[in-house]
Amino acid sequence: MTEHPIEFAFPDIARWRDGNSGTPFVHVFDSGTAGPTVMLNALTHGNEVSGAIVVDALLADGFRPQRGTLILSFANVEAYFSFNRAHPFKSRMIDEDFNRVWSRLDGPGDTVELRRARALRPFVERADLLLDLHSMHDDCVPLMLAGPLDKGVALARRVGTPVDIIRDKGHPSGRRMRDYGGFGDPDSPKGALLIETGQHWRASSVAVAKDVTARFLAVSGIVKPADLPADWRQPAPPAQRVVQVTHAVATRNGKFRFNRRYDGQEIIARGGTVLGHDEETPITTPYDNCVLVMPSNHRVRAGVTILRMGHVV
Ligand SMILES: [Zn+2]
Repeated sequence: MTEHPIEFAFPDIARWRDGNSGTPFVHVFDSGTAGPTVMLNALTHGNEVSGAIVVDALLADGFRPQRGTLILSFANVEAYFSFNRAHPFKSRMIDEDFNRVWSRLDGPGDTVELRRARALRPFVERADLLLDLHSMHDDCVPLMLAGPLDKGVALARRVGTPVDIIRDKGHPSGRRMRDYGGFGDPDSPKGALLIETGQHWRASSVAVAKDVTARFLAVSGIVKPADLPADWRQPAPPAQRVVQVTHAVATRNGKFRFNRRYDGQEIIARGGTVLGHDEETPITTPYDNCVLVMPSNHRVRAGVTILRMGHVV
C-alpha cells in the first residue's frame, strides 16, 4: 500500500509508440516556418505521470506549432509500463536513473536507461529549448530546477511560475538531461528547465504541468497562447524567488532519518540546527536562514541525495 493516493487515471501512451521520428515514443512536428526547436519531455522517471498526461493530451489534440519545431517525447517508457500499484515507487527506473547517465552516453554501459538516452540524444541535441516534466515522491510545493547558470534562472523567470526557482548544480552521481550539451554551456543560447510539479499522483501536479507547459510554449514563441487549451493556465504568483543550492546531502548507507517531517522550502532560522541523522552522524544547517530543498522523508538507497540546502538570493 502507498500513503500517497493516486488521484487520476494513467494515460494509455502505448498508442504513441510509433511516432514520425523513427524513434519510438518521439514525435517531431516541424511547422515549416523558421523558429526554435522546442522539446517537451515526460517520464524521465517512469512513475512521474503528470507530465505524461500533458504530452499525451497534446498528441491527442493534434497540437502543432505555428513556428519552429515541437518535439514531444516519453523517455523511460519501459519503467512507465512496469508500474505496479502495489509498489508504485519502483517504476521510477528499470536499471538505473535515466537522469544521471548523461555524462556516460559514449561509455561502455548497456542499461535500459543508457540505451534510451542514446536514442533520445539526437533530439535533445537538436532542441534549442527543453522542458523536462518531473514530479516528486513527497508532497512538496512545485519547484523549477533551473540548473547552475544565469540563463536558466532567466528562462524560469520568463515562464513566471512556480514561486520557487532552484538554482543547483545537479548530482555528483551523474549529469542530468537538463545539463547536457549546450544546456550546460554558459556560452550557448540553448535553455532547459526541469519542473517538479508536486507529488507524482496528485491531481494538482497535473494542473501545474499544464500551466508550466502552456507558459513554456508561449515563451518559446512557437505557438500563440490562444492555441493552447484555455483552462491550462493558472494565475501567476505575485513574485518568484531564487534559492541558490549550496549543499547536497547524500545518505552514506541508506539509514538517514529526519528528526521530524519536512515538507520542503522551510527556512530554518539558525545555522547549526540538527535536522536529522545519517546513522549516527547529525545533519545540520550550515548557516542561518537555510532553505530545505526536496527533503526525502522516506527511505532511500545508499548514496542517494536526501536533502539539498540553500539560501534565497
Ligand atoms: Zn524526476
